[in-house]
Amino acid sequence: MITLESKIDLLLRLREETRKGLVKLKIFTIKDLLYHLPSRYADASSFVSIANLSEGQNSTIRGTIKKIESKKSWKTKTALSEAVVEDVSGSISVIWFNQPYLAKMLSVGQTVELTGKVSLYKDKLSLVNPSTREEKTLPIDSHDSLFANTEAGVLTPLYPETKGISSEWFSHAIARALTNLENIPDHVPSEILKKYSLPALKTALIYIHSPKKHTDALSARKRFAFDEIFQINLARALEKQNLQKEKAYSIDTQKVDIKNFVSRFPFPLTKAQEKSIGHIMEDLEKDYPMSRLLEGDVGSGKTAVAATAVYATVMNRPGVGEKKQTFGSLQVAYMAPTEILATQHFESFIKYFEHTGISIALITGSGCRKFPTKVASSQTPWTNISRTQLQKWIANGEIPIVIGTHALIQKSLSFKHLALAIIDEQHRFGLGQRKSLAKKDSHSPHLLSMTATPIPRTLALTIYGDLDLSLLDEMPKGRKQIITEIVLPNKREDIYEKVRLLLKEGRQAYVICPRINEPDPELEKAVIAKSVTEEAKRLQKDIFPEYKIGVLHSKMTKDQKESVMEDFYNHKIDILVATSVVEVGVNVPNATSIIIEGAERFGLAQLHQLRGRVMRSSHQPYCYLFADAKTEKTKERMKLFTEAKNGFELAEYDLSLRGTGELTGLKQWGISDIGMEALRNTKLVEAAQISAKNLVAKSPELSDYPLLKQAVKNYEQMHFE
Ligand code: ADP
Ligand code: MG
Repeated sequence: MITLESKIDLLLRLREETRKGLVKLKIFTIKDLLYHLPSRYADASSFVSIANLSEGQNSTIRGTIKKIESKKSWKTKTALSEAVVEDVSGSISVIWFNQPYLAKMLSVGQTVELTGKVSLYKDKLSLVNPSTREEKTLPIDSHDSLFANTEAGVLTPLYPETKGISSEWFSHAIARALTNLENIPDHVPSEILKKYSLPALKTALIYIHSPKKHTDALSARKRFAFDEIFQINLARALEKQNLQKEKAYSIDTQKVDIKNFVSRFPFPLTKAQEKSIGHIMEDLEKDYPMSRLLEGDVGSGKTAVAATAVYATVMNRPGVGEKKQTFGSLQVAYMAPTEILATQHFESFIKYFEHTGISIALITGSGCRKFPTKVASSQTPWTNISRTQLQKWIANGEIPIVIGTHALIQKSLSFKHLALAIIDEQHRFGLGQRKSLAKKDSHSPHLLSMTATPIPRTLALTIYGDLDLSLLDEMPKGRKQIITEIVLPNKREDIYEKVRLLLKEGRQAYVICPRINEPDPELEKAVIAKSVTEEAKRLQKDIFPEYKIGVLHSKMTKDQKESVMEDFYNHKIDILVATSVVEVGVNVPNATSIIIEGAERFGLAQLHQLRGRVMRSSHQPYCYLFADAKTEKTKERMKLFTEAKNGFELAEYDLSLRGTGELTGLKQWGISDIGMEALRNTKLVEAAQISAKNLVAKSPELSDYPLLKQAVKNYEQMHFE
């Protein structure tokens, strides 16, 4: 008997090529096969076969790329991409003028859909400047209908294909599986399906793979989208439930004079900072661990909030209730992604804590420091100490505040009374690293994660469902508003002159080159390295020969990156040419201008984060965008960007304007395409979240829902950055 768990071999005889293709798509069981969902539907009659193309007609073809390259036209020297595309009937050459990057984005073997005018080019029938769609692109991201043809007709599902397997093969195999399966048990409780009018699993599978009408396909997609978001939420809710069973040091924040600590900052707190501190104080009082994410734009003042949490913690002694120790204090670990950042935090913490007499240590790959120093002659308020000595003091609880890099999570380092773990720029750490910082002994530490990555609310609800969220959605007063300008191609020189003036005044600058979407990650690295190094060379030779230019990209080693950032921080480099992939996670207040090349290719939230790099000084900051803003849509996006002040706003725009593809790093979160689509639907996400919460409250550990419990296991290991 065929079941969902049966291997595909049991159902079909597989050719070697097909078998390889299935492995590549990670399809092994019938279940995997059924969950390989169509990316869209076509009315087969809407495509013209290549052999039937005729000059002057606007046509749509669907075929495979046989050859693709970028070149310069010999006459006019315009950059162009040239390809040969083939279908079963024949092949045709395709030319895109002024789009040399297309050759880098598309690759041989890919299936594409091209719509454009058939013309004679160099005496050959060619498609010139067709609109191009990669087969894998989701309709939601390209803003097209899910259906290639809105006329009623036979809807043929089109699957994300791979070499050796066609959409036809999938249709056939899936139909066969569906007829052979006797019953497909549904893991989603029927009362939930009913409440939101969602089809049962078997119906949904039939609807999505062989819809009779558009609405069938749509209601099936809605079901799968809900299903996925629901399961992710369940996994998060279960995690949260488990966390609340753990024991943490309950911190008495009432007896600590927070007001006094805060009044020593050289600035008044923003309302948002005050509110976040309030949230954190409430959490720290509890006897189970806090799990909170503090999200705020670069420069919104997360460090001051963190310092206040640290203060409340270290002013408390270990012990329970009245039985507190009379010596030693609770400890805090504060982890930052780079040495420079860790050192910066160490220095600001010395200022914040000087008056308390509390010891602070810094631990990084290149050494350890301790504040205060007992050496009278010391030039600095701190001294270098040996790692072994520091480890001893941390282990016996003598040093309450320990700031560091990954060095903090070495096995050899253990705390006596770790009560609070803080992770700065949490998206730069893996889950394993975050978990080992928050590792439990008799007590689990309270956890405060901080990030500057603005994400839309629906996404936050989903992927951070186990965390409580505090937002710093307000910038400190007195910051100069950044001047953002979209630069026309003929004004490039003027901008370089403006930046030169700033450099002359002693400021520094960033130049960001875009990441190129290369299907092959190895190739991608090469292209990134090339665009950055070449741009740096060009700037050095032709534009800024009098200034020192540094380069930063993802192909460099961690040490190389740190050393370049250090040089930039110490102003040994005037202009830093970097990719966006490498986040410039350093506070360099002297850098006041940023030039972004190929700005139209970035998501708005990402652009905003890049711009944030120059928004932290008292000098006037500038952001110059070089963008290929030909279409109205690009113009509109760029305009939104110059006007918006806040990263969250821009993340929402990204989601509504260009789809989830724009949200940086989404793929790494392991959400399927259909789940991503769902994130645009606030109502659906909220419904999934409420359903998950209610269900976990009703049936802790989901013991009444064994199928669902099993299904959710897939999401337990998966966590989000
Ligand atoms: P981020 O949120 O990016 O980590 P930081 O904590 O590094 O931001 O703060 C950026 C700068 O703003 C620091 O120089 C800090 O001293 C300053 N700052 C923080 N809060 C305020 C405030 N409420 N008013 C004025 N300046 C502030
Ligand atoms: Mg910070």
